[in-house]
Formats: sequence, C-alpha cells, structure tokens
Amino acid sequence: MRRVPEILEVESYRRLCDQVVGATIVRGFADGYLAKKLPTPATWARAVKGLSVTGTDRRGKLLLLETDGPTLGIRFGMTGVLLLDTEAGIEGLFYGPHSFKEEWVRGGLEFADARRLLVHDPRRLARVEIDPDLEALGPDALTLTRRQFDAALAVERGEGPAVKARLLDQARVAGVGNLLCDEALFRAGIDPRTPVSHLDDARRGALYRALRATTRTLGRRGGSHLGDHMAARSRGGLCPLDGEAMATATIGGRTTYWCPRHQR
Ligand SMILES: [Zn+2]
Repeated sequence: MRRVPEILEVESYRRLCDQVVGATIVRGFADGYLAKKLPTPATWARAVKGLSVTGTDRRGKLLLLETDGPTLGIRFGMTGVLLLDTEAGIEGLFYGPHSFKEEWVRGGLEFADARRLLVHDPRRLARVEIDPDLEALGPDALTLTRRQFDAALAVERGEGPAVKARLLDQARVAGVGNLLCDEALFRAGIDPRTPVSHLDDARRGALYRALRATTRTLGRRGGSHLGDHMAARSRGGLCPLDGEAMATATIGGRTTYWCPRHQR
C-alpha cells in the first residue's frame, strides 16, 4: 500500500530536522518540480546559501525550518520523504514499499559539516517554499484546543459540508489527513457524510476526543497508517468492532471507508 505522508510523518521529519539546528547551509538544490512554487530552481539555491538553521516547526503537513534569514517550508505531497543522509535517518524513516532511487531526490540542503537533508519524491508533488504563508492554514491538528475545534466546525449558513470534508479543509484545521480523519470518525462512531451542523455539542466533543486520542495513539504506534480500521480499508473489508461490511465513497475528494452500523 502506498503511504501518503500525513501529519505524524511530517512531525517525524521535523524531529529529524532538530539534528541540523545550529548547522550552516552551504548549498541548496532543487529541481523544477520541487521548486515549482518559486520563480526558478535557482531561487532556492540563492536564498538558502549561508543561512544557519535556528529551529524547526510545523503547521499541519507543512514542515518549517527557522533560520537566521527567511523561514524555509517543505511540503511532501503524496510520496515525499525527508532523509538526513546518515544511516540513522534512512533506517528510521525510509519506510517499506518505497525504494530509494537517486533520480527521485528532488533537492535539499547541504550543510557545512557535509550532511545533506534530501527530499526523495517519486511522484514529484513535494514543494519547497520561502517564507510560506501561514495565514492560509488553520490551527495545527496536533495541538488543537476544543475551542479551536468548535470554531473549525462552525457553519455560516445552511447545513454545512460533510464533517469529513470540513476536517480535511486545511484552512480550517491544518494537518488532518485522510487516514487520520477516517480513524477519528470510526472511533467517535460518526458517519463521515454527516453535515457539520447536525453534530450537537456532545458529538462534537466525542469527535474532538477521538481526534486527540487518534493522533496520540498513532503517533506512538509509528504512523497514520496504523489505525484500528485500516485492515478493513479494502473491498469486502469488515468492521473490526462489529463485523459489518464497510461502506466506501469519495468524500472531500478522498476515498473514505466507514462502518454503516456503528458510525451514524
Ligand atoms: Zn462497526
């Protein structure tokens, strides 16, 4: 199964980047895909040369490297992986079905101590940014408060969108990916198609707690793909709680699985 980097994977890349805090960038490189949001690939090389990394951060699935100059952002798209070219980095983060190919290294940063931070991305959807616009993103899913969660589900008019579509909207909450979202709804017993306005305070509370528990539990297990409902994400999959045949549909643009018996 292909694994899309979700918030927990990007959080693990952020922790990897903690190892380069204090290091000085001697060279940056990016191909036309990785640099697609910049005027030219050379923009990246010019902007990063000589910067010192002062810290790391993350907003949703956007990784941030703080420097003594601009903030550098990296998005990982569908197949992006961040590697620090030490054995520990590759062993720790280069997961299963992907294989490493030099030609899939789209760019990265080289430090004064010769270490390199590399973006490896077969599908070419990862992007680097310089001083990314954080205003466009909602509060981060891993540190979301109940108040922020309620604000994210607020409806201006009508019934509002399906709760799943709203949770995937990065402008409302940054970092809820497809698998995390399905797992939280599964745990909360909520049908992903439910219009947000139909969720009363008790059900919103249940969903908030399920989302918190899901991010913590899956973080501990080691990734967004390790949810309780994952084994049932296939044709003919059965709910691990009650044995009901799982339903599937595209919601919020993503393939969604849910149990029609206990998710209502
Ligand atoms: Zn069920």
